[in-house]
Formats: sequence, structure tokens, C-alpha cells
Amino acid sequence: MQSNYVGRFAPSPSGPLHFGSLICALASYLHAKQHQGKWLVRIEDIDTPRIDTKYSQMILDSLRAHGMQWDDEVLYQSQRHAIYEDVLADLHYKKQLYACECSRRQIRERTPPAAQYYDQHCREKGLGFENKAIRWKNNAHRQMFDDLHYGRVTVEDKFAFEDPVLKRADGIYAYHLAVIADDIAQGVNFIVRGSDLLDLSPLHLSLFEAFRYPVPQFFHIPVAASEAGQKLSKQHHAPAIKNELALSNLKSALHFLACEHRDIDQIDDAETLLSWAISHFSFDNISAKREILVSRINDVYCLSRENKK
Ligand code: GLU
Ligand code: ZN
Repeated sequence: MQSNYVGRFAPSPSGPLHFGSLICALASYLHAKQHQGKWLVRIEDIDTPRIDTKYSQMILDSLRAHGMQWDDEVLYQSQRHAIYEDVLADLHYKKQLYACECSRRQIRERTPPAAQYYDQHCREKGLGFENKAIRWKNNAHRQMFDDLHYGRVTVEDKFAFEDPVLKRADGIYAYHLAVIADDIAQGVNFIVRGSDLLDLSPLHLSLFEAFRYPVPQFFHIPVAASEAGQKLSKQHHAPAIKNELALSNLKSALHFLACEHRDIDQIDDAETLLSWAISHFSFDNISAKREILVSRINDVYCLSRENKK
């Protein structure tokens, strides 16, 4: 029986699926399946200069090779400009938007080092929207939220007081706008994602509220890092996971998520491992750290010894 749980995995195709994103995919998949929910996949290909369509296909191929089949159709943000315009029109109608003509440099020069957030310089200017950045009037200033894994999280002022840009002057829709618009459109009510996004979650919750959408629950998980503070990421050229090593990759990802069990050693295909994990995996055991160090040996990752220090 299906519950009303709707979760998702939302990779940006700026590179192939790497071990860090596999962990996110697996955790969100297992959580959704344990709750008899839907698991959706959304390709966040909105930041057009940085993304490459070939990676979208590679990511989907890797998910399939690792036995993670998504529900419904894959959503591509690059095909949803009309929806983002509607969402902006809605906020504009509610008088929650304004155009900003400040350059990065002007903002930097005006901002005291302690603040680090936009000073609302253009809020009352009533500028036309044409070719300008569009900002959201953030009056919520939410500084805290309750994460299901990390508990109460408090963020710095720069995350709570920013009037975020929702559409850039060059016409590109911002991540904040697309992610909220799509989570709402897809009926997402449960978000499992990496701890690198913890700081943005209060702002995201405020945006959900601005749309009067019941706020989803968040479960953040530790990120995999090659060294302290260096999360495995496409920017740092984390290598693609090898699809032919799917079983070992999944076992490593489960290990990362603190799942060690003698049953696992005997399992020799990805599908069986996933069904085992859906019924046995426990989210309570995941480390409370923000990041976990990993090292790569023979194309497969393992937890680094440094973690024990
Ligand atoms: N697309 C984002 C990323 O790859 C994830 C967005 C999210 O999970 O909210 O980091
Ligand atoms: Zn401005």
C-alpha cells in the first residue's frame, strides 16, 4: 500500500554520479521505500552554463545500474521556465518581489564584514524588472529549524536575513526558486539531502510558507569528504562511480550510512541488496557528524581511518 510520502533525489548534471551523490540517492530512496512512499528524480539543469545534458543521461543510467528505479517521470528543470514565470508572477502579485540593480562589487563595498547579506538597498526603489536581478522580500528571517537527523539547527545571520535572488539579471532562474517551485509541483513532503544544504533550509522553509505550502520535513545526512572540509563534488572533479561495480558501490554507501550487518556479505546482486536494505536499514544509526572522510581504493570508496581520530 502506498502512503502519502513523496521524496525525491535532485541531482544537478554538472558531472556524472559520484560516490557522494550515490549516498544521497540511496538514503532518499531507502527512506521513501521504508515509508511506502514515492521516490521521484528531478534533474536540476537550470544553471545552463554549468550543466551538460550528457550528464543527465549518465546519472539516470547509473541510478538504473544500481537498481534504484524512480516513480513517475523524471522532471527536467530546463523545461519548466513557464512554471517558474508563473510562480514569480504569483509572488509579484503578493508584492513580495523587487528588482535589484546592484553589482556584486557595490554590495560588497556597502556591506559591513559582519553582515554578509544583501542590505535591501533596492527594496523600495520600484525598479522595472527588465534585465535586472529579481529578489524576494524575505521578512521571515527564520534562523532555526528542526531537522529530523541533526535536531534543532541554527544558522548564521547571512542565511536568515538575505533577500535571495530568484531570477538573475541574465535571465537564469535561481536554485532557490526552482527547487521550491518543483517540490511544490511534485507534492514533495519529505526531503533527504546532504548536510551541505542545512544552512539553506530555513530560507527554503520560509519560501514554502510564502506559497502557503505545508512545509516538508527535512532529514539531512553527512556528506562524504576526501579531506576535512572538502566534500566530494563535481566542482572538485569527484570521479564517476563505475556502474559495473554497482554492488560494491552500494555496500560502501550502506557502510557510510552506518549499516554493517553480516547478511550483507552474502548478498551478491544489487536488487537483493536494495530489498534487504529497505526492510533492515536503520536511519537511527547514521553518524551525527556533518561530514565523513572517505578514501578511494581500487575504484571503490571506504571510510577513511582518519574518522576514528
Ligand atoms: N541539486 C542540488 C545538488 O545537487 C540538490 C538540491 C536539493 O536536494 O534540494 O546539490
Ligand atoms: Zn540592489
